[in-house]
Amino acid sequence: MDHFLYRDGHLCAEDVPMSDIAAAVGTPFYCYSAATLTRHFLLFKEALEPMPSLVCFAVKSNSNVAVLKLLGDLGAGMDVVSIGEYLRAKAAGVPGERIVFSGVGKTPQEMRMALEGGIRQFNVESEPELEALSAVASSMGVEAPITLRVNPDVDAKTHEKISTGRKEDKFGVPISRAREIYARAAALPGIKVVGVDMHIGSQLTDLAPFEAAYTKMRGLVEALRADGHTIDRLDLGGGLGIPYTRSNEAPPLPLDYGAMVKRVLGDLGCEIEIEPGRLISGNAGMLVTQVIYRKSAEEREFLIVDAAMNDLIRPAMYGAHHDIIPVIEAEAGVLPEPFDIVGPICESGDTFAKQRALPPMAPGDLVAFRSAGAYGAVMSSEYNSRPLIPEVMVQGDHFAVIRARPTYDEMIARDSIPAWL
Ligand SMILES: *Cc1c(COP(=O)(O)O)cnc(C)c1O
Repeated sequence: MDHFLYRDGHLCAEDVPMSDIAAAVGTPFYCYSAATLTRHFLLFKEALEPMPSLVCFAVKSNSNVAVLKLLGDLGAGMDVVSIGEYLRAKAAGVPGERIVFSGVGKTPQEMRMALEGGIRQFNVESEPELEALSAVASSMGVEAPITLRVNPDVDAKTHEKISTGRKEDKFGVPISRAREIYARAAALPGIKVVGVDMHIGSQLTDLAPFEAAYTKMRGLVEALRADGHTIDRLDLGGGLGIPYTRSNEAPPLPLDYGAMVKRVLGDLGCEIEIEPGRLISGNAGMLVTQVIYRKSAEEREFLIVDAAMNDLIRPAMYGAHHDIIPVIEAEAGVLPEPFDIVGPICESGDTFAKQRALPPMAPGDLVAFRSAGAYGAVMSSEYNSRPLIPEVMVQGDHFAVIRARPTYDEMIARDSIPAWL
């Protein structure tokens, strides 16, 4: 459930009409609902009770500092995949003891900065990384808390580009070699083993792959403990999917997920860490855009809108579906028409949707893309020299710009012309 509803025919974010925000900040823009972010975070937290747990928001899904502050103030931890994300979490006031550092390519410099600033754990993904971390931590005279990200060789049955837990994927260490690498970790200076980590993919719509992976994790924990390791934390990753359409069947709820985790892992006496991104931020955000032109071609009606693939790349990159709805609801009895909804960028890939039913639309009308709060703004670029679009957060009856639209001058001033040209 989210907090984007029509009131008197006007689409609102909580209590604020989208058209008011559009008038104030211009289009296109991203709009996030604070109440929805809060609700989604609490669903996870409650789903894991009474197990000791930390819900670490996957910062890569939405890294706006205001979003991180809202979740951090509710007690969320953060899962970061770069030192840039780490610094954003710190800027939002999240203490290092609640930040976990994931990712296959952490550099020694990133490791040092995280150790200096405080870190809950590194989720180590390879032996070379383990050795690099050992060298950095030893040189600083500290111990780095680690889990090893174990690849359980489970097919998450999700999109090829976001499946991460099969043996051919680049992530983690193979579960078949985990005991050997844990033994190596325990012998290295500057390394302190604290647990085990997994993340098998994103946008999973079925609990079965999670359960298969966690069952393998359970066996591994027992074996590692028998080998003499202290395993106190289980990081289960993120990946629970969200409904991108109103019509299709609903993916599992956090409550069902939590019940499964308790059943499979609840008696191990470990603290559970999870790293949800999409399920917290995805349906807490919308992208609002304006129709520039309506263009008729043979057997096609195009709506050319002022947002493009540089603002929201998911349809072009993953073939992803976003529900697209009018900001002003159609009058009763008005029949929808099929439209192809496209952006202004000079690539045919800049197509958001084909043959989508919408009420008759005219230039100047606003439409909203649902489910745009995750992997939306964070993946945007300035391709075609289109400045990054603003992000807005709504809470109740007020809203604030949480990232301003750069001016054209600001965008151009980032380049510099060498003196010799
Ligand atoms: C991407 C990612 C997540 C978050 O995935 P969601 O599908 O957004 O929940 C969590 N952990 C790691 C290590 C990731 O790479």
